[in-house]
Amino acid sequence: MARMRIVIVGAGFGGLSAAHSLAGADADVFVIDRRNYHLFQPLLYQVATAGLSPAQIASPIRAILRQAANISVTLGKVSGIDKDRGVVAIDDREIAYDRLILATGARHSYFGRDEWESMAPGLKKIDDATGIRRRILTAFENAESTDDPEARRRFLTFVVIGGGPTGVEMAGAIAELARVVLRHDFRRIDPREARIVLVESGQRLLSAFPPKLSEAAQVSLKKLGVDVRLGAPVTQCDFAGVAIGNQRLETATVVWGAGVMASGAAYWLDAQKDRIGRVIVEPNLSVPGNPEIFVIGDTAHVQGLNGSPLPGLAPVAKQQGAYVGRVLRAQLAGNPAPPPFRYRNWGTMATIGRRAAVADLGWLKLSGTLAWLLWGLVHISLLIGFRNRLIVTLDWLWSYVTFQSGARLITGGGSH
Ligand SMILES: Cc1cc2nc3c(=O)[nH]c(=O)nc-3n(C[C@H](O)[C@H](O)[C@H](O)COP(=O)(O)OP(=O)(O)OC[C@H]3O[C@@H](n4cnc5c(N)ncnc54)[C@H](O)[C@@H]3O)c2cc1C
Repeated sequence: MARMRIVIVGAGFGGLSAAHSLAGADADVFVIDRRNYHLFQPLLYQVATAGLSPAQIASPIRAILRQAANISVTLGKVSGIDKDRGVVAIDDREIAYDRLILATGARHSYFGRDEWESMAPGLKKIDDATGIRRRILTAFENAESTDDPEARRRFLTFVVIGGGPTGVEMAGAIAELARVVLRHDFRRIDPREARIVLVESGQRLLSAFPPKLSEAAQVSLKKLGVDVRLGAPVTQCDFAGVAIGNQRLETATVVWGAGVMASGAAYWLDAQKDRIGRVIVEPNLSVPGNPEIFVIGDTAHVQGLNGSPLPGLAPVAKQQGAYVGRVLRAQLAGNPAPPPFRYRNWGTMATIGRRAAVADLGWLKLSGTLAWLLWGLVHISLLIGFRNRLIVTLDWLWSYVTFQSGARLITGGGSH
């Protein structure tokens, strides 16, 4: 009998975790990704604010899966699925599957204002991060060059939209860049005078965290000099600035951290989806009516124990990938199926600069340096398959603590 063909689309946290748990299984596994590298998204904001270089947060998928002889990697963008024929369409080819795992993640959502994207880029890919880095560093250069005080003020105003973890991390990191890293680099401007405004339409930051930690995050940001505006929806966004309610703020740099939308998996499958496009899956993460197809990670809607959908977090995607690996291994061995997927929540965290973070471990709520250390430990443990965790960690720590200058490069995009 022919060996089972398992196709995994997406080599993010979910897809790679599934691949790892199928390494050495009696099946041929095909991992497809539109990029040739796995991206460690939780540190993207560090690339965007010139703290780390892109190569420090990405690792080639082939290298990660090199040891697994039953796994092949294909570079290509999936554009559709034919469920009846059991094939995945990539560019101008098709790949047949017996079992399919979709782990294609999420992208930003502009709540129907897609025209804002060019003014207010979001942070999902390396190109987004280097593009934002270019905008931020160019704004400081332009402020240094201009003689017009109004223009200078505009260049030194940075607006981050969205008070979730990405917005909080970005605002804190831009503040540190201005107040610490660039402090001595200019002659005509004082980068410490930069105004960093974090805008959130809700009544508190980090709404998924307990109110006490939202307050702690706000206090930490204030200490870094971030101007936090709550209950303030952005109503307009253009190249000259943003409107917050009926107040206008002139700025050359806006970063979007407000909303996400799942990948197109629900569309490919013609499956039932939730408000943000996630496929609503069965308790074993398969697609209703298609037990051979599984959807995991940011692109799946899975109910948590408290009745709300599980959040889009790396540990959720990793645990789901490992779970589907177990389901398929049980099928291969003819063993009974494992019980339904259950997420083990070890805690949620967000950082605010290099010394502070908030951590909600359920039984313990932490903020400040201790939370930041914990954040560091957890993120090291999330490093999937990076060749040598210790070396990468030391490399990161060194760049992080010393504010390495190599990452402060303005690249791509032509002249400012
Ligand atoms: C800026 C930022 C900061 C974050 N910080 C944290 C954090 O601190 N802690 C935390 O736990 N989580 C964090 N997250 C969330 C976390 O990164 C995601 O929950 C996690 O990456 C989801 O894993 P996934 O496998 O579902 O998708 P992803 O990791 O996004 O992987 C999806 C993969 O699918 C590929 N793909 C997509 N479409 C196609 C296609 N059509 N064809 C082929 N390949 C395709 C992509 O190239 C990608 O490799 C952060 C996310 C962002 C953007």
